[in-house]
Amino acid sequence: MRASPPVSAAPLAAKWRKLAERRCAEKGERLTPARLAVYAEMLTRDRPVSAYELIGLLEERQKRKIAPLTVYRHLDFLIRTGLVHRLQSAQTYLPCEHPDHAHESQFLLCSSCGRVDEVESRGVRKMLSRIADERGFRPEQAVVEVKGLCGACAAAEPA
Ligand SMILES: [Zn+2]
Ligand SMILES: [Zn+2]
Repeated sequence: MRASPPVSAAPLAAKWRKLAERRCAEKGERLTPARLAVYAEMLTRDRPVSAYELIGLLEERQKRKIAPLTVYRHLDFLIRTGLVHRLQSAQTYLPCEHPDHAHESQFLLCSSCGRVDEVESRGVRKMLSRIADERGFRPEQAVVEVKGLCGACAAAEPA
């Protein structure tokens, strides 16, 4: 067996590394250096990235070509373990703000600066399941993504 070359990765704070290790242990998944490198790269950004941007960032850091399929596989893994969320409307990815527990989030997407705020509202979840219930609908997954301006951008906008 050939040893895989060392992966150069963005620095990862101990807090996130521990969270990632714990999530993987719980899910029986293996946290490889390559998977961790993708996660670390995403955490260097303060906004969601597309798979395309992510490939660019990783290639720049690792100084080599990376097959898109490999990155998509790592993203699948990160989503599966709850470390990363996929924004359906923008087709971008962002690290979860609280990956220590399973949850269904809602997202506030700023169309000016691109930042995304992840919120976890029990009220929204309850309301949606009540609406579905009233119609005899059996929900599988709810995607709540609100587009608009974040507080900072709204304040900077001329009235
Ligand atoms: Zn989350
Ligand atoms: Zn904004």
